[in-house]
Amino acid sequence: MSSAQRTRRNCFTASPLDRCAEYRANPDWLTAQRVSPAARFLAFDQDGCAPIAGAGVCWLDGAAIAATAATNFLGQLDGVPVFTLREPVSHAMLPSATWSSLRRIAMELERAEAGLVAYARALANWQDATRHCAYCGMPLALIDGGHRARCAQCQRLHFPRTDAAIIVIVEHNDACLLGRQAAWPAGQYSTLAGFVEPGESLADAVRREVREETGIEVVDCDFHSSQPWPFPASLMLGFTAQASGRAITLTDGELEDARWFTASAIKAGLGDGSLRLSSPLSISYRLIEHWLRERAGVELEKLPRAG
Ligand SMILES: [Zn+2]
Repeated sequence: MSSAQRTRRNCFTASPLDRCAEYRANPDWLTAQRVSPAARFLAFDQDGCAPIAGAGVCWLDGAAIAATAATNFLGQLDGVPVFTLREPVSHAMLPSATWSSLRRIAMELERAEAGLVAYARALANWQDATRHCAYCGMPLALIDGGHRARCAQCQRLHFPRTDAAIIVIVEHNDACLLGRQAAWPAGQYSTLAGFVEPGESLADAVRREVREETGIEVVDCDFHSSQPWPFPASLMLGFTAQASGRAITLTDGELEDARWFTASAIKAGLGDGSLRLSSPLSISYRLIEHWLRERAGVELEKLPRAG
């Protein structure tokens, strides 16, 4: 399976949406999209929760939206213009909906809608955090359908920010390295992860994070797949890696524990409830799934779980 195919398996990826990025700077084109009778609008409440009915998002049509309401243009889905409302709405606007965070609902939504909500939250998170010019401190005005912000004072443009983070499953012979933070539920272990620093390559970030957190030396790594992670603004870049040895030293205090797990130890731990993995929503789950399949012929999805 290629890295592109592996990426397509990750939640929030492979959206059929056409972002129409080449048209977003054209105000007339954007207005025509906005007033199209086909246009659909996604609203969020003040906590960033989306309105859900059944297993799908509740959309608003243009008739329900004030002509002056500020919107972000997401793109076209099968030719239908898709927007989000910038201001939070009250639950009374969609009385039949239940309101849910993206993290809670992502695995239940249809794939394209999960990706759309993730995209909308990522853009909204950047807008919420970027209200003033980083150069002169004056307020910013959103332009280009919400995808750029311009300073009224110095005219500098500000672009949506995405924070690159590596996440890696490290292996040594028949075992993989997983760690846990003290705040996590008992027994939960995950692959190692960390933000890429300025002036650092992805492979260098993999080597540094693994060494900082566990004292393990990575001798080689390969790209696996990627996943947007809008909590609030990350892009997860997944890797597989090989270690030179197994002596663990918890160096930087980020992890409470790190251990080498064989496939049979993962199987036994999930079976008796002593081991919990991250949600299938996460790329961590996909990396562990990949490793178990490649190294032990085990399908993670089919393993018996306690409880
Ligand atoms: Zn400025």
